Amino acid sequence: MKRTHTIEQLIAAPIGAEATLMGWVAGRRDLGQLIFITLRDRWGELQCAFDPTESHEAMLAAEKLRSEFVVAFNGMTRPRPEKEVRDYPGGDREFVVKHVELIATAETPPFVVEEEVKASEEMRLKYRYLDLRRRQMVKHLTMRHQAVTAIRGYLNTQGFLEIETPLLARSTPEGARDYVVPSRVHPGKFYALPQSPQLFKQILMCSGIDKYYQIARCLRDEDLRGNRQPEHTQLDLEMSFATRDELFTLIEGTMAAVWKACLGAKLQLPFRRIPYDEAIARFGSDKPDLRFKNEIADLTALWDGTDANFINDGVAQGHRVHGVYVSGVSLSRKHLDRWTDSAKALGAGGLMTVELGSDKQAGSVARFVPEMAKFEAAAAPDLKKSDEGKGTWFMVLGPAAKNLKIMGQLRLQLGKHYELINESFWGWAWIVDFPLYEQDEDSGEVAPAHHAFTHPLAADLDKLLSDDPAELLSIHADNYDLVLNGEEMASGSLRISDPELQRKVLKKIGMTDEQIEARFGWFLEAFKYGAPPHRGIAPGIDRMVMKLVGTDSIRDVIAFPKTATASCPLTGAPAGIDEAQWTELNLKPLK
Ligand code: ASP
Repeated sequence: MKRTHTIEQLIAAPIGAEATLMGWVAGRRDLGQLIFITLRDRWGELQCAFDPTESHEAMLAAEKLRSEFVVAFNGMTRPRPEKEVRDYPGGDREFVVKHVELIATAETPPFVVEEEVKASEEMRLKYRYLDLRRRQMVKHLTMRHQAVTAIRGYLNTQGFLEIETPLLARSTPEGARDYVVPSRVHPGKFYALPQSPQLFKQILMCSGIDKYYQIARCLRDEDLRGNRQPEHTQLDLEMSFATRDELFTLIEGTMAAVWKACLGAKLQLPFRRIPYDEAIARFGSDKPDLRFKNEIADLTALWDGTDANFINDGVAQGHRVHGVYVSGVSLSRKHLDRWTDSAKALGAGGLMTVELGSDKQAGSVARFVPEMAKFEAAAAPDLKKSDEGKGTWFMVLGPAAKNLKIMGQLRLQLGKHYELINESFWGWAWIVDFPLYEQDEDSGEVAPAHHAFTHPLAADLDKLLSDDPAELLSIHADNYDLVLNGEEMASGSLRISDPELQRKVLKKIGMTDEQIEARFGWFLEAFKYGAPPHRGIAPGIDRMVMKLVGTDSIRDVIAFPKTATASCPLTGAPAGIDEAQWTELNLKPLK
């Protein structure tokens, strides 16, 4: 038999159409007189009926079919009896089978291929080919394909060239460890798999390519956390001579094209732009979730004149009071304890609350409030009419930076708990002008906040001469993150194109001249022969698809992901190599 239709095509054809379908047995119901088999292919599922009055031969064959057998069915569609009509594609018809061809049998699968899959994730990854037969997984892979197709389509209209860069390369630092590959022909030498195509894309700008992109695989050996993968895919992009606005408009256009192609949704452009310092002050985060307001307010001045000594003493030491207001909330003792525990778990000394709209002085520090009207005025942006002025301030007292970090997290917890988040809103924003350097929490060392090729803001260039870490940490960069619903979707920046400035920046992060020459000499040399100013960005494709399909698990949008311990249950990678390979590679196994 030869396939004439996919299930989707047959559902689109008029009832009564003749066809030969090919696919997998997804389920079967044997009613004695009649057998129903659900047939599945990539495009859909269709109920197939085996009716001895139509074909005795097909009925006999159907009795032998089991789950996941591969079959060809020839027959025609007919309407379902009215009471059996269902509200899903093809639910108005069934396919009456006249001829059956068994193409391949299947052993009983280790788990049932169904939407509400009951198998563990480890099992799903080990038998990924079965897992990928599920409609939801097909939908995810399809969405991913549509997103990438939309990206290519859009960028191709904007003059971009898609160019591949090497996988076997020298180290490209992005803050992770390298995966290295030993060279057989150069004993003792190694390639590094790219943490990103950063250096090559900058070289492409030096080559005059002007507008480059690549759907690039990036390999980073990091301590794996829940939603990380050792390899991820990003839309890696670079442009010469472009202003920041030009790059933003381009990426906004790309995202709009993707959202339209994948969801039929129209994004509101342009996206909001929020300087980093402002994002921290208002949301306590450089990835603010903008699907709800409840911004953090500095309420220190509102405590002027209070007789609470602990507040006065704190303020005298330079501490501040920061808070978030939630309308309609009044806390029972139990809830106050719960939120106090949450604040403490985030590092706060305690939680202060003041309830508005209550006759009695409710809230843990309400009795110390000098003037309630000021707290009401400060709550104005978040007052909800229907709550008639009732609501609660959640506050912490401490050093400003620490407060903001704590309140940023607490705001998210409050948003979730009190259902403040507008789930139907796409909360896009550009966060701009990050610090160039950050201090490593463990080692205390100054490290690039983005990567070492990011250009400082012109106004801060002089500060690079300083050896004072505080001065260095105050340098801002011409860089930007794209965030969506409180998550980072992309990072990018203006690059350094002056080799001397690049050397200076590398030195500031502790590299010696010799180290710079050995690792980046080849790269810096390229800048001597006419380097254009250039900037770029790299939106993560996996994250993008996660948002499009609405999943929290990165493993659900990658065909063959690794587990949390960076292994592949399907193939057994990573695996040992045989003795001959050790020898060929001039390596010795550790005894
Ligand atoms: N190379 C950066 C990264 O992989 C992105 C960029 O700056 O374009 O995160």
